[in-house]
Amino acid sequence: MSPITVVNVGYRSTNYWVVSAGRSRLLVDLGWPGTMGRMHANLERMDVPLAEIRYALATHYHPDHAGLAQELKQAGVPLLVVDVQVAAIPRLKTWTKPRDGYVEITEHDNVVISFAESRAVLEDIGIPGEILHTPGHSDDSVSLLLDDGAAFTGDLTHPALAGEAEVAVVQESWRVLRERGATRFHPGHGPVWPMPAAAPPS
Ligand SMILES: [Zn+2]
Repeated sequence: MSPITVVNVGYRSTNYWVVSAGRSRLLVDLGWPGTMGRMHANLERMDVPLAEIRYALATHYHPDHAGLAQELKQAGVPLLVVDVQVAAIPRLKTWTKPRDGYVEITEHDNVVISFAESRAVLEDIGIPGEILHTPGHSDDSVSLLLDDGAAFTGDLTHPALAGEAEVAVVQESWRVLRERGATRFHPGHGPVWPMPAAAPPS
């Protein structure tokens, strides 16, 4: 199996991660609406041909993370959706304005899987890992966790920054990630961090 490499093709303060096993690749988070030109340019600069991206995965369906999902599909990249995310997809258009140039995601042609199926789907493209449900920022938030300990957590709130209303859910998501072997996280915004320590009991 090819070693796993990770590059960031992000822009506008948002990270878009290309996880590659040789030339078999997964794109994690999918650009702002109306920015396909920018995405193309960044992929090209990082030497990632669109044709080598086997799936596009949005950590959650907010505009800065899933804005180009449909255009990527139209360019030949299948959209990998976890079943808990299906209901969130149509809501995405309510957070965009016409001038954003958002192309609405069609629902009949996505690759919808369960968390339990995720390891086999990833293994098929040479990437050892799984997809986990990590709600807190939103109910449809998922994380990609590679077997080498790298977690791609989207906007999952850092445990130290969680507000009172969400803190229990956020801490549970971090607990799951830690328990499954995450050692460092690649967030949707900002730099890569080591895994936050477990919160002291309150
Ligand atoms: Zn978000």
